[in-house]
This record gives sequence, C-alpha cells and structure tokens, in this order.
Amino acid sequence: TPPEAIRNFCIIAHIDHGKSTLADRMLQITGVVEERAMRAQYLDRMDIERERGITIKSQAVRMPWEVEGHPYVLNMIDTPGHVDFTYEVSRSLAACEGAVLLVDAAQGIEAQTLANLYLALENDLTVIPVLNKIDLPAAQPEKYAEELAGLIGCDPADCFQVSGKTGAGVEPLLDAIVGQVPPPVGDPAAPARAMIFDSVYDTYRGVVTYVRVVDGDLNPRERIAMMSTKATHELLEIGVISPEPTPADGLGVGEVGYLITGVKDVRQSRVGDTVTNARTPADSPLGGYRDPKPMVFSGLYPIDGSDYPDLRDALDKLKLNDAALVYEPETSAALGFGFRCGFLGLLHLEIVRERLEREFDLDLISTQPNVVYDVTMEDGTEVVVTNPSEFPGGKVADVREPVVRATILAPSEFIGAIMELCQGKRGTLLGMDYLSEDRVEMRYTLPLAEIVFDFFDALKSRTRGYASLDYEPAGDQSADLVKVDILLQGEQVDAFSAIVHKDRAYGYGVMMAGKLKELIPRQQFEVPIQAAVGARVIARENIRAIRKDVLAKCYGGDISRKRKLLEKQKEGKKRMKMVGRVEVPQEAFIAALTSD
Ligand code: GDP
Ligand code: MG
Repeated sequence: TPPEAIRNFCIIAHIDHGKSTLADRMLQITGVVEERAMRAQYLDRMDIERERGITIKSQAVRMPWEVEGHPYVLNMIDTPGHVDFTYEVSRSLAACEGAVLLVDAAQGIEAQTLANLYLALENDLTVIPVLNKIDLPAAQPEKYAEELAGLIGCDPADCFQVSGKTGAGVEPLLDAIVGQVPPPVGDPAAPARAMIFDSVYDTYRGVVTYVRVVDGDLNPRERIAMMSTKATHELLEIGVISPEPTPADGLGVGEVGYLITGVKDVRQSRVGDTVTNARTPADSPLGGYRDPKPMVFSGLYPIDGSDYPDLRDALDKLKLNDAALVYEPETSAALGFGFRCGFLGLLHLEIVRERLEREFDLDLISTQPNVVYDVTMEDGTEVVVTNPSEFPGGKVADVREPVVRATILAPSEFIGAIMELCQGKRGTLLGMDYLSEDRVEMRYTLPLAEIVFDFFDALKSRTRGYASLDYEPAGDQSADLVKVDILLQGEQVDAFSAIVHKDRAYGYGVMMAGKLKELIPRQQFEVPIQAAVGARVIARENIRAIRKDVLAKCYGGDISRKRKLLEKQKEGKKRMKMVGRVEVPQEAFIAALTSD
C-alpha cells in the first residue's frame, strides 16, 4: 500500500470512557470482524483483560476504509488507559500520526484525558476530539464539547459526537481520520528502519514482533538485524493483523504489522529497538522511546520451592510480553529462592502475578511491595535499596524517596476532603485551577509510597467516586524514613522488614507483631515477637509455650488413625520454615503477607 493511502491512529481516553467499545464498532463497520464473530472487547485478548474489563496490552489492527471511492488502509492501535501503563500508551503513540481523543459525554474531561492528550501532543500527533456515549440519557455533549474545545483550542463544533455502543457517528469519524490524520512520511529507497512497539511470546511460533515501518521495506526470507544488539535473523514470516495474523509479501513505508524470525529466546526482540536489513543496515536507529522505569518492587516466591526453575522460565517468557517487567534472583531466609521484581505500579504487579499463576500454573507468594530508596551513608557511600531487608545498618545521613506530581480532578465541593487526604499522605499542594465553576483541578507533590497503595481507593471514597487521578514521576525528596524489622526469638524475618515514615513505624510494628501472634502456632518454648527500629524495640508480643503432642488427641483411638496423624504431622513439617529455632508454617507467612 502506498503511504498516501495509509492512516495510523490510536484511540486515547480516560479509563472506561469507551476506547475498546469504539474499537469494536470500527472493526465491525469496516467489515474486519463479521457480525456473528463479534464479541465485546474483541481486541482484549487476554482472559484477565476480559474479566477485569480493562486493556493491558496495546493491539494493532488493519482495517480497509473507502472515502469517495478511494481505498485506504487504517491501522488502529487500541491503548490501555490505566496510569500504570502510560509507557504502553507512549509506545503506541510513537507508531501513529493521529489520535482520537475520546471523552465520555456524561463525565467530561478526567485526569487521564489530560495526561494522554499531553502525550499525544508531545508526539506531534493530530488530535481528533470525540465525545462518546451520546446514547446515554445523562449525556451532555454540548456542555462537554465546550470543555474539550477549550482544552485543545478548537471550535466546539469540531468535536465529533459518537456512540461506540450503537455505532452512531462512527462512519463520519472514520472519514475524518482519513481526512485529518496525515499519511506517514518515510524514505522508501532508504535502508529499512522499523520500530518495535510490542512483542509477544507465542508457544507455537516463538517470538512475534509488532513493528511500524518508517523507512524502506521488510520482506519475507531476507535477513534482518536488530540495531541495538546487531543480532541477525531470517524473516520467516511477515504480515498484518486483520483481525487475525495474515501473512503478507512485505511491509513498506508507514505500514504496521508483525514479523516472526523463529527466535525462541525472548530477550532477542527488545521493545523500543529498531529493525533494519542485515545486508544494507541503516546508519542510526530510530529514537523516541523512553525506557520504562520500575516504580514498585516486590519479592515473588514459589510456594513450592521446587517450582523455582519454572518461575524463572515463566518470568523470562512474560518479560517479552511486558517490556516494563524487571527481575533478579533473590534469597530470603524465610521464603527460600525467588525473585525481586520491579513493576510500574500495583495494578501491574497484580496482573503479572495473576498471569504467572494462570498462564504458567504457579502458586506464588509476594512480599509487601515497596518503592526504591536512595540511601546516603555518613561516610558518603550511596546505596540503592529495592528490598527493605537490605536497608544499610550503619550511620545513615540521608534517605531519599521517589515522589510524583499528581493531578486530581473533582467537583469543587470536595476540595476540603481532598486536601485533608493529601496532607495526611505527606502531600504538598502545588496549585489549583477551576476548569469550570464547579470543577477543579488540584496539583500535588506526593511520595510515591503513599500514592501507590491505597490512595486511589481513599480518594474515591471521600469524593463519592467523582474524583479522578493521574500522576507522573517527579524525582525524589529527603524524608524521615526508618526500617522496621520483625524478630522471632531475636531472629530477623527478612520478608517482614519494611521502610516506613518515622511516624508510622510504631503502627506497623504493632500491627505486624499482632498478626504473627495470631498466625504462628505455639511451640514447645516461649517465642517473643518483636518489632524493632535498629536496636530499639518498639512493639512486642509473646507466643506462650505448649507441649505439642498430637497423639494425645486420640487417646484410645484406633492405630490407623494414629498413624495417619503422624504422617500428617510429617507432611506439615516439610512445609515448615525454620526461623532460628522457631517452626513457622508456610501458611503463616502467606497469610501475614497477603491480607490487607
Ligand atoms: P475503555 O476502558 O476506554 O476501553 O472502555 P470500554 O470500552 O471498556 O467501556 C467502558 C464501559 O462503558 C463499558 O461498560 C461499555 O459497555 C460502556 N460503553 C462504552 N461505549 C459506550 C457507549 O457509546 N454508550 C454506552 N451507553 N455505553 C458505552
Ligand atoms: Mg479498554
């Protein structure tokens, strides 16, 4: 297809404003998916995406569309909307020339509408403003067209009005994409350069890499090279997604599709890398990618220690699907062999864990998530702490924690409640603007550690669900942070160490000691549980001693019952972890780490 007939666009919106539904309608209206094969959220292929109703991976689909008798090819990239996945959005945007900015006509602009719009503008995309869900009785398209037009600086009449549900207004929108989004520009005669914006591990076909060709062309059977590693591969198959993978003769300037090289090692196809011809390679790679930076760390351990190699393989495979996931081996005295993993946020962590358990059939335990701390010692050495139990013990001069710049949009009646919440979370108000007379935008600097865990839920409940939140990394700041250790009979249990603000140390210590007292069974001797900051004990509990004799329970019972009990006890022993002299059942660790 000549570039003049290609339009590459994405749909961006606040979560739940209807991206996936609109994408579904476009697939149907362009005839790519037949009526009877249609299912809701066609592009959300992963089970987790369907169940949670959210989009995690970006997807690219090719659709034919005719305007005034001329055939065009539209490449649509559906993007995730959650704040954890801004990186996925930014990669999708880099493969497009235009963006459909979707706003729910019953809700108006929300925090991620702004964030996504700024991302699109940074990438020089043509933005088409669209109000969605006009079929809803509560829709106020005129009111919100004013808001949207004010934001991007156009006429309210230029905002399209559609319903992804009924299909109303979608055909004129497709025409407008052809009319307004510029065609891709590239040099067809230059050595090939294609950017990798996604890659997936497929059990049968190996690594499937999604690319957008910028210059030159890629053809089946030729040798290609990855510019960052110089590794070369034969192109076994190249094609487009429409809506299933379909082999093609080649991909030229501006085209979006997939390629398969038969590579099995997941690390050979790096997201953000540039693909070129092996024989006539391009001089310089394409730029514009931002490396994803993990913000939240947690230890992942197999419940059954013999699953460790499987967990490693599973992480290797998932890594290909997920450029933002990082991990390295780690050992815990309490939990055995596992991995310290870095994630973009808590939702990302939950999803990775769920996928590991589901797609790879693993039972896992994850430690309390934490952010990354930069610790400067009095002698000047710097330590980066991604695991609280590795917080240095010597004389600490300064601890820095990551902070974010948060934007909260809410009805103005909630200003007081939001300020109170943010102050309680160590926030600093940066500024406040009225979007209209009853809606306000508040900007805060907040510690990441305060925002990643339960901030969003607290915000929602204090504003009856009306506030929306977006945040971006904003460097770090010094803070009064301490490490709280949990000790059983004087032995530190590494999995329970936490780095918390000085004022919260006591609360954490009391909570954890109390929990463990409930969870750890009595032993033959007394077991003190202590929470300590350095050498100072801040909370303590005691597990009283008992004489453990299971056979006493079935005094006079028949012999086979006794034997069964003994065997059961032996089984149980295997799942016990020793902390010093104390036997702690695996379940106690799991329970202590999973609940709230
Ligand atoms: P996404 O998070 O932006 O991908 O949003 P979804 O497409 O998953 O839609 C979120 C919710 O809004 C779902 O319950 C959809 O059924 C609903 N929805 C999406 N578009 C429309 C629409 O045009 N009209 C109505 N009434 N509901 C819609
Ligand atoms: Mg979606």
